[in-house]
Amino acid sequence: MIASSSGSELKENVGSEIARLQQIPSPKAQVNTIPEITVAPLGNMPVIKDLVVNMDNFWNNLEAVTPYVSTAARQVPEREFLQSPEERSRLDQTGNCIMCGACYSECNAREVNPEFVGPHALAKAYRMVADSRDRTTESRLESYNEDTKGVWGCTRCLYCDSVCPMEVAPLEQITKIKQEILTRKQASDSRTIRHRKVLIDLVKAGGWIDERQFGLQVVGNYFQDLKGLLSLAPLGLRMLCRGKFPLSFESSQGTQQVRSLIESVQKVEGNGE
Ligand code: SF4
Ligand code: SF4
Repeated sequence: MIASSSGSELKENVGSEIARLQQIPSPKAQVNTIPEITVAPLGNMPVIKDLVVNMDNFWNNLEAVTPYVSTAARQVPEREFLQSPEERSRLDQTGNCIMCGACYSECNAREVNPEFVGPHALAKAYRMVADSRDRTTESRLESYNEDTKGVWGCTRCLYCDSVCPMEVAPLEQITKIKQEILTRKQASDSRTIRHRKVLIDLVKAGGWIDERQFGLQVVGNYFQDLKGLLSLAPLGLRMLCRGKFPLSFESSQGTQQVRSLIESVQKVEGNGE
């Protein structure tokens, strides 16, 4: 990973980046100075020496999403598993991954959650979901839906998309897996599913989130999860004592526009989520 003197990570050619920076005058001396470029080992991986890192977790996390097409449940009518050009083209973007590790290195979720498999693995996971030859989509989606190990562990910081040198756009692939999961699941199935569905429902209803309802519906599962409701009590009491618990909820002035926007997106996606 290369960082410029401004601290931003780059996926640029070092020579052209130096040439670009040399054109920018120094604010102090008003003369061109030698730009500073830091070359550092990849992040989120233990450093063995200098720029050499131990990539065991990177590969183990890739393995955790079963990155192989499974044709086990299929009868084989021909020698090859044929795909139409259109079916094959769905694999182009994710198939470009060169496993460079840049996205994994910059992933905020990986930094704080050792369970999270990482953007490279989830981009590959979507490649498997999109592959017309694979026959394990349902079990794959179950596994990618698991706690914060899979897609729900992503904090959507966008770093993986911005550093990927091959335009694989891991966050985009993670979002597609989420959509596949959401079209199959009910809000009652898990807290992560409710989080997504309740958030959209509340924003659609009031233009922004009624946080009182949010906690009760997501954590309390619409008053059905007693343990979840009790876990909210200490926070609710603290908020009440400090006058931070709103007793009423006012819809946003832009509710109508927000609602139309959400409905248009849902119509385009055709899944009502
Ligand atoms: S968008 Fe998600 S997967 Fe990508 S770097 Fe951020 S937290 Fe990691
Ligand atoms: S998704 Fe992009 S950044 Fe991540 S390993 Fe593949 S090529 Fe590298």
